[in-house]
Amino acid sequence: MKEKRILITGSGGFVGRNLIEHLRRHGYKNLVTVSATDYNLTEQEDVRRMFKEIRPEIVINLAAYVGGILANKERPADFFYKNIVMGTLVMHEAKEHGVEKFIALIGGCSYPAHAPSPIKEEDMWEGYPQPESAPYSLAKKMSIVQAQAYRQQFGFNAIVLVPGNLYGPHDNFSLKNSHVIPALIRKFYEAKKEGKDEVVSWGSGKPTRDFIYVGDAVEAIITALEDYNEPDIVNISSGTEVSIKDLVETIAELTQFKGKVVWDATKPDGQLYKGFAVERMRKKLGFEPKTDLRSGLAKTIEWFEKNYDKDTVRL
Ligand code: GDP
Repeated sequence: MKEKRILITGSGGFVGRNLIEHLRRHGYKNLVTVSATDYNLTEQEDVRRMFKEIRPEIVINLAAYVGGILANKERPADFFYKNIVMGTLVMHEAKEHGVEKFIALIGGCSYPAHAPSPIKEEDMWEGYPQPESAPYSLAKKMSIVQAQAYRQQFGFNAIVLVPGNLYGPHDNFSLKNSHVIPALIRKFYEAKKEGKDEVVSWGSGKPTRDFIYVGDAVEAIITALEDYNEPDIVNISSGTEVSIKDLVETIAELTQFKGKVVWDATKPDGQLYKGFAVERMRKKLGFEPKTDLRSGLAKTIEWFEKNYDKDTVRL
């Protein structure tokens, strides 16, 4: 596998940047990355040209049109159209151009909004996802149907992985649309820097989430790349739920913020409990994440502080 020519689309994103670093560490040398200025992946001609020019043997498709909840609400059509076209074209042309193995990722938001926690892979088709991001998440979710159909009809080796709540270096730390971990790291860091004695956290602190350090998630992707060749989707997560309150306290401690945390009850809690079942990950991939939440947070904070001056971090 290490000798294969591997095309990674979306390599400039959160997962992509971490994946490239880890693949290189594992000794993968023949990696090809592309950017949106090279090829517009929503145009079939461009996608065909990409496969003709690059001739990859393996594809890890991380390209997606992503955004926060506000952007999803404002432009649902863009999120639907771009993701469904891009996902469909890239997998189709990969098959047409003789690619040996194809990996696609979809978010945990593809699961039904009311799936019981911990969410099992079998629950994927048991209901409609959270309506705010459904145009995005359903478009992404079609890659499961496509992968299974292409496997059945053409023997095409496409697999789909479902990471849980990711966090770590290269995450989106924007004040407008980041997830809870990067948002709070930034809030505590800036409060401390500016001498403020109060940080606002959203909701009640009662919800639970299952966080996986991105370094572990990309290791799971590499394990799947090397050893997993079956049609079933696989969750990639820690299998442990933590309350937002405990999370906030840990981040406050690690950033050495000594002030007060104020809970803003006007902000939504979102889903109350959201964990992911990881039995299939253990059984089919033989994979277990190595980084506990505390050390993952410490690494993320260290990275954030080091990169704070970059425009891409302080969005
Ligand atoms: P979700 O899993 O889609 O709900 O993702 P989020 O990471 O946006 O939110 C997870 C939980 O963290 C929710 O209960 C939020 O209310 C809570 N939370 C607390 N403070 C913040 C914050 O500053 N930003 C975000 N995004 N969530 C926060």
